[in-house]
Amino acid sequence: MQTNTLSTADYIAIEDQYGAHNYHPLDVVIQRGEGVWVYDVEGNRYLDCLSAYSALNQGHVHPKILEALVTQARQLTLTSRAFRNEQLPLLYKELSELTGYEMSLPMNSGVEAVETALKLARKWAYQVKGVPRHKAEIITVEGNFHGRTISVISFSTEPLYKDDFGPFTPGFITVPYGDAQAIRQAITPNTAAVMIEPIQGEAGVIMPPEGYLRQVREICSENNVLMIADEIQTGLGRTGKLFACQHEDVRPDITVIGKALSGGFYPVSAVLADRDVLGLFRPGEHGSTFGGSPLGAAVARAALRVIVEENLIENAVKMGEYLMDQLAEIPSPHIKEVRGKGLLIGVELKPEAGGARRFCEALQKKGILAKETHENVIRFAPPLIIDRETLDWAVPRIREVLLEA
Ligand SMILES: *Cc1c(COP(=O)(O)O)cnc(C)c1O
Repeated sequence: MQTNTLSTADYIAIEDQYGAHNYHPLDVVIQRGEGVWVYDVEGNRYLDCLSAYSALNQGHVHPKILEALVTQARQLTLTSRAFRNEQLPLLYKELSELTGYEMSLPMNSGVEAVETALKLARKWAYQVKGVPRHKAEIITVEGNFHGRTISVISFSTEPLYKDDFGPFTPGFITVPYGDAQAIRQAITPNTAAVMIEPIQGEAGVIMPPEGYLRQVREICSENNVLMIADEIQTGLGRTGKLFACQHEDVRPDITVIGKALSGGFYPVSAVLADRDVLGLFRPGEHGSTFGGSPLGAAVARAALRVIVEENLIENAVKMGEYLMDQLAEIPSPHIKEVRGKGLLIGVELKPEAGGARRFCEALQKKGILAKETHENVIRFAPPLIIDRETLDWAVPRIREVLLEA
């Protein structure tokens, strides 16, 4: 155990003085994590119900991923892609075997992989579909969250994400989420791709109507348009399937993953597609110094093995159903709806409940860390290693907060 000479309040004061204020975190200063639990600098224990926005599907400091990280870090961390390394080919192969996509392209953060997918779709439009150069259009949906770069916020519909950050990148069209006909109508001869999240996590665990993903797939196929799924948050077991699109037996042309791909150790993301699409990049057209590093590849390989070997996808189904049932039974006058899939669950509060933030602060006092998303939704997304006993510890506390507050 480390001892602290600084208190929670001290750390917060330092952070407020010296750090940019681009987040509004709960006032808990975490020092240590293990599995589903984290411990603050005062030694208090909390159940992590956010999992770093689903980057920690495997839990905090998973021993097998830690082992892979340390072993690889002692041996070789970075070659750049100017040279080859012996970890990356194995990651490629294992990703292909696991996901069924013929190829992948590794990046670091999620948004870089999204940008990569957008570049790829544009390239495909010019090289394969025959769209006139620099005329490609990409259809996106309202409420989307794909990251924070200027191009990606160009098609955000959240004013906070973009108001002060223009001018924006052209070439994006936005239609309502969940409305397949709107996509059909927005398609032109210049449409390269449609990009969606199968469930909108950041927008507040918004679920499209049943059949939407299948309809989008059909519309894309009929119109020679690529379907891109951003599974950075929903993928790798979170919703009870490897990919959330599989709930509707849909295989997008391009799937983007990140977050849990490294189990929270190191930023690793990837674009997955078949050879006819991902084979289009030529040397020099795209790259990243750290993308595909031996360290990242070794960590990702271990993180994927944990998902498979520990049956995290099945556990997400079982524990997700259990948690959702338990939450749905809470007779709170504040709750408007409980929704989700697997262990990606949103509890939407009524507007008159006074916002989700105060409920999250009350949960913190009871040893549960959850975060509001937008005004009125509390997201419950614990690590996929969570067990029934832990949920039975958590649910009465959640219940108390939702009934009391
Ligand atoms: C988190 C997230 C991103 C961005 O990932 P970063 O690693 O933060 O860049 C993109 N899309 C979705 C759906 C996400 O949840």
